[in-house]
Amino acid sequence: MMQEEQPLQVARCTKIISPNTDDAKYVINVKQIAKFVVGLGDKVSPTDIEEGMRVGVDRNKYQIQIPLPPKIDPSVTMMTVEEKPDVTYNDVGGCKEQIEKMREVVELPMLHPEKFVKLGIDPPKGVLCYGPPGTGKTLLARAVANRTDACFIRVIGSELVQKYVGEGARMVRELFQMARSKKACIVFFDEVDAIGGARFDDGVGGDNEVQRTMLEIVNQLDGFDARGNIKVLMATNRPDTLDPALLRPGRLDRKVEFGLPDLEGRTQIFKIHTRTMNCERDIRFELLARLCPNSTGMCYRTQFCTLYLCVKTTTFYDYFCS
Ligand code: ADP
Repeated sequence: MMQEEQPLQVARCTKIISPNTDDAKYVINVKQIAKFVVGLGDKVSPTDIEEGMRVGVDRNKYQIQIPLPPKIDPSVTMMTVEEKPDVTYNDVGGCKEQIEKMREVVELPMLHPEKFVKLGIDPPKGVLCYGPPGTGKTLLARAVANRTDACFIRVIGSELVQKYVGEGARMVRELFQMARSKKACIVFFDEVDAIGGARFDDGVGGDNEVQRTMLEIVNQLDGFDARGNIKVLMATNRPDTLDPALLRPGRLDRKVEFGLPDLEGRTQIFKIHTRTMNCERDIRFELLARLCPNSTGMCYRTQFCTLYLCVKTTTFYDYFCS
């Protein structure tokens, strides 16, 4: 039986003529062969098939046998996609104000869209996070995705234009197509200044590629519903260089600034990062935090170890452990 079973051919259903079960008729296009008007196989129901969908058809009568998922470029899947990140708000130290703002503009519209319908206002479609590297922009975005049960897609701006020269705009389109296929999704563009830098005319059109990618992002931002389940977050450490087109109302409406953590923030970050480390539990973290002003969350692991070792080998050790 297995040998008799023929492989199916991939086609696209271009038009639904009549979806009635007993007399279903669809126009399909088999690439480089022809268009056919066909019926449905036994195992598919008319509700499974939509116009524009890819389908599997048999080789005799070209009847539609199975619906297929949309074709997605394998390089899109190379971008980091996390179905549900494992970071929670508890893993973000300090950043109180930022957490509050993100919850208001991203979490609330995703979890309680009805509140915005009642008020009759559109929630923001996107947020721009800016601040020095390593201050928790990505971390917080992942925590929001975790809270809202959303898929988290991270794309790095500079990679988009360097790795896929000439393909940037298409990649962006496919990326959003993938985002739309998820129940809920947070698209995170990191280092967005690489694509969203202010447009200027260099006379020779050298940067057209970058601009096309940027315009596609703007297009896509305009194209989806503010009340839908896709939110776009962008991160940069140079907000002043961004194209104002990105920041127009209805696009990235809100800005959230991330700064260096204060003493309380640093203490919390130390606690978070030492949770999984094998070290004394009664360390006075705020004393250690005092020793490293002006540092970001990113360097805490190494910083803690260095400080801890330094302190441990001196006579001050008792002072740091209460
Ligand atoms: P960026 O702002 O450049 O996106 P990330 O969010 O990627 O920075 O931070 C890098 C790493 O630094 C994180 O994976 C995390 O381990 C640590 N980190 C940064 N900020 C914080 C913070 N506020 N609390 C806890 N860890 C942090």
